[in-house]
Amino acid sequence: MRYGIFSDVHSNLEALEAVLEAYRHEVIDQYLCVGDIVGYGADPGSCIASVRTVAGTAVAGNHDWACVGKLSTRYFNPHARAAVEWTAERLTTDEKNYLRTRELIFTDGSIVLVHGTLVEPEAFDYLYDEEDAAATFVELKAKVCFLGHTHLPGFFIRGTTGAVDFRSAGHCECEQSSRYIVNVGSVGQPRDHDPRACYCIFDSSKETIEIKRVKYDVEKARRKILGAGLPVILGERLRTGR
Ligand code: ZN
Repeated sequence: MRYGIFSDVHSNLEALEAVLEAYRHEVIDQYLCVGDIVGYGADPGSCIASVRTVAGTAVAGNHDWACVGKLSTRYFNPHARAAVEWTAERLTTDEKNYLRTRELIFTDGSIVLVHGTLVEPEAFDYLYDEEDAAATFVELKAKVCFLGHTHLPGFFIRGTTGAVDFRSAGHCECEQSSRYIVNVGSVGQPRDHDPRACYCIFDSSKETIEIKRVKYDVEKARRKILGAGLPVILGERLRTGR
């Protein structure tokens, strides 16, 4: 089984379409979304529609739940909060129902999906380093956990000694005795200084994981954000990918 796993679309339709087009050149059996379909960008409705069409499963992101009032925006920065309010005003009842009914965790055989961490998924904490990863490894019962939230792609690997190593994006061949936490990065708002959209492919029979990048029309997405009256910085940061 080959999975196309992506996260943090953040209402960036140009980035999402570029990623889905890139996936069409791969053999993918099932698509999975790791949350934050909306927030920041100017196309929440079209992004929800696309993800619903393509993805077998999408778990909840903090922005998805905040936009439907299921999560407080108390810990959101002012730009993120403004985008949540802008998005909430534009979602249809049907779109809100879809976001509201996203679950925190999805498990299927050797894989688990969660937006932030497995320690307390509903808190949407950030998994940044080996120490954060170690805590999620304690909760991980499957071989691989895919997550997003930080918009920083990479692999955390726990071998037989229990030590956790980090490897930045690229290709990973899973070893039998190791477990993996994979941050699949962000489709619509990368923050690792690479403005290209990020996406992941997991081959469960070969046990290989790839994190890939694709260029998209950043200027078009940026212009839409400015035209929509969303905070200017949300468009500007797309240019630098941070
Ligand atoms: Zn996000």
